[in-house]
Amino acid sequence: MQPERLVEVLRELVQIPSVNPGFPGGHGEDGVAAYVKKFLHHLGLDSFYQPVEQGRSNVIGVLPGADVSRRLLLEAHMDTVQVEGMTIPPFAGEVHGGRLYGRGACDTKASLAAMLVALETLKKAGLTPPISVCLAAVVDEEVHYRGVSAFAESVAGESARYVGAIVGEPTGLDIITAHKGCVRFYIDVHGKAGHSSNPALADNAVERACMVISELQAIEREDYPGLEHRLVGPPTHCISMIQGGVAPNTVPELCRLTLDRRTVPGEEPLEVFENMKLRLHTLAEREPGLQLSVPEPFIIDFALDTPEEMPFVQSLLAAAREHRSGAGLLGAAYGSDASKLARVGIPAVVFGPGNIAQAHTEDEWVELAEVEQACRVLIDFSMKPILKGA
Ligand SMILES: [Zn+2]
Repeated sequence: MQPERLVEVLRELVQIPSVNPGFPGGHGEDGVAAYVKKFLHHLGLDSFYQPVEQGRSNVIGVLPGADVSRRLLLEAHMDTVQVEGMTIPPFAGEVHGGRLYGRGACDTKASLAAMLVALETLKKAGLTPPISVCLAAVVDEEVHYRGVSAFAESVAGESARYVGAIVGEPTGLDIITAHKGCVRFYIDVHGKAGHSSNPALADNAVERACMVISELQAIEREDYPGLEHRLVGPPTHCISMIQGGVAPNTVPELCRLTLDRRTVPGEEPLEVFENMKLRLHTLAEREPGLQLSVPEPFIIDFALDTPEEMPFVQSLLAAAREHRSGAGLLGAAYGSDASKLARVGIPAVVFGPGNIAQAHTEDEWVELAEVEQACRVLIDFSMKPILKGA
């Protein structure tokens, strides 16, 4: 593996903007998808576009192994978050002091580059892995995970042939086997508008919402500690937005709270939602005058809990430790594409170079030495005979 080649590929990926269209100024993953497609084509690997929605496609490629009936999956998303507020040129891919800077450098183009160069190294060395290595470069991880969802759906019927999936995200070369999911929804508190000079004649929705906030705090205090998961901790929630009122001299008739509830493994997002909705409606029955409605969630995501003792996981851990002695098995509070793969029966973990603290930042960067280590781990792991018995 040539480190200079890895830097070159990462820089080229960063230089192609791929801001998710769900963010301001986002034009999508098209350019990166074309780059990955061309890369795989030049290697002489079978590859294809998998359309996800208008103008947005995943790219899938396969390096055939000695046993082509089984596969190791390498998955990374191609989209990034917005570039507003960045203090460095977002698409220059500049290198200073062993770091490469730019939007997506850490999250998650470093992982994608490590995967591409791992495939290139194996192919150019004429090495045949024990089982096939499949790369899935997907769209839309940062907003709706439509890319991985489309891929997962397409392989759901044959998921048994996938011995495992490595989902590339900045984990600092640790292996994330468990992470949280989420359910996000609105809580609308209703009042009655009126002139603010005589509030007694109206019904202030913002003030009523205080009761809802107190109830949410009680739920947090009473329910969450008992649900603590060994690797990811207890569930949490965050009232992330609050909207209410139309003018300084009008009593607000509506107050909308946006709730981001993070679930732990074992919790089903829709069940969690139904329970919270029931609790809030019970509160409304108890509190005279409190009227609220809780529309269906606008986002749900699943938690991940891949058994640590699986040969696939242990074997990847061993490969990671050959290059980073302190690498461990951890849980994470954030979500990833891995849970959607696990959902269709592919054992999935999250692994990649970079620190999650650098993701989405104003001066995003990744340590090049770590990208190189990740690439070497992927190469070694792809050649591990243990995968035969996994
Ligand atoms: Zn990411």
